[in-house]
Amino acid sequence: MLNILAGRDTNPPAEDRALFVRELCRLTADTRSLYRVTAQQTSFLSRLTIDPRLLADTWSRHFGLLTDLVYLPEIRQSRLKIPRKAIVAVMSAGRRLCAGDFKSRETAGDAVGLVGTMCYVARTNHTLMHAVKAGLFDLLCELDDMLDRRTIAQIVPLFCSCLLTAKVMHAFSQRYAFPLAVGGPRRPSPTWRDIAETFNLYHVLYIRSFQEKSWRCSMPCWNVQGPHHDMVRICPCGAHAYCSGSCQRMHWNAGHRRECSYASFDGPCGLQGAVSLSDIIYISNIVQEYVSLARAEMAQRLEPLFEQASDTEQAIIRLNLTEVSACAAV
Ligand SMILES: [Zn+2]
Ligand SMILES: [Zn+2]
Repeated sequence: MLNILAGRDTNPPAEDRALFVRELCRLTADTRSLYRVTAQQTSFLSRLTIDPRLLADTWSRHFGLLTDLVYLPEIRQSRLKIPRKAIVAVMSAGRRLCAGDFKSRETAGDAVGLVGTMCYVARTNHTLMHAVKAGLFDLLCELDDMLDRRTIAQIVPLFCSCLLTAKVMHAFSQRYAFPLAVGGPRRPSPTWRDIAETFNLYHVLYIRSFQEKSWRCSMPCWNVQGPHHDMVRICPCGAHAYCSGSCQRMHWNAGHRRECSYASFDGPCGLQGAVSLSDIIYISNIVQEYVSLARAEMAQRLEPLFEQASDTEQAIIRLNLTEVSACAAV
């Protein structure tokens, strides 16, 4: 039904897809329950004794179907947190297939593709966090010798950029010891080695930021009235840091009460919960580290711009965090 009415390759008319989605919603109530049903199906399939000749094809079809389903615009735009069970079920099926013959191992690559699509459509980085806890990195390592690495090449860059968020880094640090060995030959397409290298790079900053709480000394107090001592706290909205509780109270009463995005339920930095406060602190630490290391070079590049517009008082600088990694390594 999915292939006929809503398949990505068949390109059906909009009414057909609408019909399919309407029926799907009628059967499963909402997207969250739809994900739960997929988890049940995956677990059910795992328990079946399937003829070895049909095993790879059966799973390949199942993963392909779910990938198409998850990618449907109507499902994709529902922007919910994907239930942990749905991710764990796919991961454990993938890891079991990985222990089989070549064809089964190829199908484990399809499982990686499905998890990648789930991470791509998810509203938050919880999906990747659950996948990390369920052994996604191990699966990528085990599939290192596979010839077709399309699905792996897609998930690796996503994985690396999510290591810039505290939650995913925390989940990864809990499971793997620092530093990770990055042995074996380099390959032109992305592999688990890129993830290991990114982890090794950022882990130092992560520890400095969270165990040594370096961020507490690096943010300026927003309470202009003072007095100012050490930097100790941050408003849950993520926008302002204070050197003391009294500074926070004074700034709150002076007007932050009205503009604080946390109080208006928009969450840290008004991002509606897409990233947590600890994520924001961690990213801000990486950016600060980058700025302090690249200050001279940045000044050199900015000088001509300021000369061109001499009345400019402020400028917004956009940083590409993939460039930051080179600098954080220094
Ligand atoms: Zn202060
Ligand atoms: Zn606030």
